[in-house]
Amino acid sequence: MAGWVFVRTLTEIAPGVLVRQSELFRTNSTIVTDGGRCLVVDPAVTPADLGELVIGLRRAGLTPVAGFASHPHWDHVLWTTALGDVPRHASRGAVRVAERDRAELIASIEDAAPGHELEVCGRLTPIDPAATVVPWEGPEALVVAHDGHAAGHCALFLPGSGTLLAGDMCSDAEIPLLDLTQADPVGDYLAGLERLAALPVRRVVPGHGSIGDAAEFRRRVAADIAYLEQLKRGVEPADPRLVEPWLIAEHHEQVSRCAGLSEQPQ
Ligand SMILES: [Zn+2]
Repeated sequence: MAGWVFVRTLTEIAPGVLVRQSELFRTNSTIVTDGGRCLVVDPAVTPADLGELVIGLRRAGLTPVAGFASHPHWDHVLWTTALGDVPRHASRGAVRVAERDRAELIASIEDAAPGHELEVCGRLTPIDPAATVVPWEGPEALVVAHDGHAAGHCALFLPGSGTLLAGDMCSDAEIPLLDLTQADPVGDYLAGLERLAALPVRRVVPGHGSIGDAAEFRRRVAADIAYLEQLKRGVEPADPRLVEPWLIAEHHEQVSRCAGLSEQPQ
């Protein structure tokens, strides 16, 4: 992916919405502000990154009052005591998986980004399944739940600025990564994309990769649908995002598991 830049400082990408991008996996941490208070979404990814994030928040005069984890993968459930002992919200499904797979989650953190305060990582508070917004007093953050990429995955949509915090979807750096433990991973992912595409998105912040405007959001949704439709039909998808060896390995796994899905008897 030539030409990308990552922004390690907290940058205001929309009124009251700050993003910091880590070099590792181009992971985005997003802050939604409410005066001097803030909601911290998917803080990541190395301990040094979290340290810099904490310093950035202090310099900006922002105190975290809540966190949110988009889904129960190791790089989205990180935390540090320096961010405060505040609730880290997630969907009920995400909390269930994070608790069930805690040993695996911790092993992944230690393997990929060692040195975190493991005791506070993956400690999530379930939101009410009927809740449509993040339970905090700041700007409205709509919860958009679906099972694409991971069971209990939630994007957040900030209607005030038209900003979509997409979790691990809508990336210019990663192909759609399926949850192959589900019965219908491609269907789940397409259903998730459909939900996101119905929103009046003016700006998209993916979990990994570049921030995009409305046109770029539409382009990414179309690219993801094209990839998944090819996967379903058993056609080898040609996707320019297939660059990193780990991503190519995931892609091959998806091809072998999903090829010709639409030809299977119903
Ligand atoms: Zn993920």
